[in-house]
Amino acid sequence: MPPLLANYYLTYKCNSRCMYCDIPIKPENIPIKETAPEIIIENLAALKRLGVKVVDFTGGEPLIYKQLPVVLKAAKEMGFYTSIANTGTLYPLKAKQLQGLIDDLKFSLSTIDPQAYSKERGINGFNKVIESIKIAKELGERPSIIATATPESIAQMEDVIGLAQELGVVVLLGPVFDYCGNDLLKDEGIKELHRLAEFDNVCVNWAFTEFYLDGGNQIAKPRCRAISSTIVISPDDHLLLPCYHMHDERLKIKHENGRSNLDEMWRSMHVQERRKQEGTWDFCQGCTIWCYFETSFLWPPDKYFLLNVKSKARWAKEKIKQYIECKSGLKLTRKLAGDRDKILTAISANPLNQPQIQKPAAERQPQEQKEQQHGLAAQQASEREPAKSSRN
Ligand code: SF4
Ligand code: SF4
Repeated sequence: MPPLLANYYLTYKCNSRCMYCDIPIKPENIPIKETAPEIIIENLAALKRLGVKVVDFTGGEPLIYKQLPVVLKAAKEMGFYTSIANTGTLYPLKAKQLQGLIDDLKFSLSTIDPQAYSKERGINGFNKVIESIKIAKELGERPSIIATATPESIAQMEDVIGLAQELGVVVLLGPVFDYCGNDLLKDEGIKELHRLAEFDNVCVNWAFTEFYLDGGNQIAKPRCRAISSTIVISPDDHLLLPCYHMHDERLKIKHENGRSNLDEMWRSMHVQERRKQEGTWDFCQGCTIWCYFETSFLWPPDKYFLLNVKSKARWAKEKIKQYIECKSGLKLTRKLAGDRDKILTAISANPLNQPQIQKPAAERQPQEQKEQQHGLAAQQASEREPAKSSRN
């Protein structure tokens, strides 16, 4: 099977400084320069020849890459499904230029408390994220929230789900993975993710949570298909092997007469030899870096394959619901279904709570009780240690 996904790192620069991420501050990343759009477009053509279907433009903060609209436009014209996860802090500035170019637009958010957000990410960005999601919806995009649950932040996930329900977006909820010495969720945490997965607008990848509970990749019987399924390209035009997070090899991509040799390089004996070893290196033991496992679970058919299919079906259902709600104005979302005592709290500093769209008085009275609960929750959240999570 040819690789399906490209993780295209456009830049390692980022305007956030998340406590759990070293991408923008890693000494070897700092001098790395971005590549001109023409070179990236030649690589996209090579990815097309390889049979890649999805290009995830990532970073760093991918919106820092100035020529992003040019590159996205080329990717769309070549027929790729495009995906971007971003912080939302730069999106309001670029939204118009990006309109219609991103099929899967995700904003990362793991709390509804602006102070906890700043503490975790080193930037006052919470209000910008909310603004970005609203702008994206106004422009006809179908954005999602991507929320990474850590042992510290998992208690805030129900509030994030509530926010997603208010905003009418889907939240993709996943456990933190093992990188940069992050603390992982224990069985209880995964059980909590499964409880949260019952709520409307929530998607959890059950294949991944099962894999997590099973102890991740086992080098004696590897499940990782990082090289087979995913092409990883660095901002300075190298193919990274075997994956971004643990790459120990950077192969310079060559360009001649407007043609990239990325496809030939991937098919070379050397890369194919490494491909045969994917998931078997010492650093692969217990790996849960989910960026590579969604595609790794696409074959062979086993329990992870089946759970992955089930998760994709849920994602499709939620996105279709979001589409219908956007187009028709119908309200199909059951607010935090199944637990009436935990109905959504009010969200401080949420533009949706502005007076012109406030709910009728009859609905506002219970809201006051929720606001009191939220105040307590936010206070507890700010007293907790800051979260550790995965990229973006
Ligand atoms: S198991 Fe993890 S560390 Fe090893 S190649 Fe796969 S994704 Fe990379
Ligand atoms: S996790 Fe994402 S947003 Fe945070 S510092 Fe790293 S690249 Fe930037």
